[in-house]
Amino acid sequence: MRKKYKSQLCIYCGVREATDRDHIPPKGIYPPQWRNNRNLHKVPSCSDCHQYDSIADEEFKLYINIWTGEFRENQDDVIDTMARTIGENQRLASQIFSTATRGYADRGRGILEPVVYIGFNYENYRKVIKRISRGLYWTETKKIMSSKIDIRVVHPYEMNNYLKRYMQNVMNSLEKHELNYGTFVYKCCFSDNGLGILGMQFFSRHTVIAYTVPC
Ligand SMILES: [Zn+2]
Repeated sequence: MRKKYKSQLCIYCGVREATDRDHIPPKGIYPPQWRNNRNLHKVPSCSDCHQYDSIADEEFKLYINIWTGEFRENQDDVIDTMARTIGENQRLASQIFSTATRGYADRGRGILEPVVYIGFNYENYRKVIKRISRGLYWTETKKIMSSKIDIRVVHPYEMNNYLKRYMQNVMNSLEKHELNYGTFVYKCCFSDNGLGILGMQFFSRHTVIAYTVPC
């Protein structure tokens, strides 16, 4: 398989030769049996960009699993994977637990459940979404997104209702693409110069929008 990308440039830096393949979305969000046995989507990458920032990936994996875990079929595997991630990564664990506070969550019908809130570093979340966006741009157009283009990530919680409705209309008008057996869905539209919008959904639950701007 490596041969396939011999004359291909890394789709992230656009400078070095692609010698590796990078999973888009990161394969860490899947339980181990998926990572080894299934044919998950990949894009060509150089080894530097491929190994880039594993702490961001680990934190992203936890974030996605926390938001989607209770709705997924393999809940036990999801919890195991999360526990292992925290167990094996002390820096991440101490960062997360240093922010923990106790509180109550409304589970509907006025039922309050005691929960622990933990703080995430949204910069890492954004970093990974930006990388996925570049990967999806290449997947769709087979072109490398220029380094002169910046990607803005809009978390659903940051959108007011007007913007949400507007984004929903844009997204409804676009064609849906599925990757990794339907666990990851995206819609996008780009102009020739790489400016455009992307909507992504993980495990039919967690949705995020990204758009590109010249920088
Ligand atoms: Zn690279």
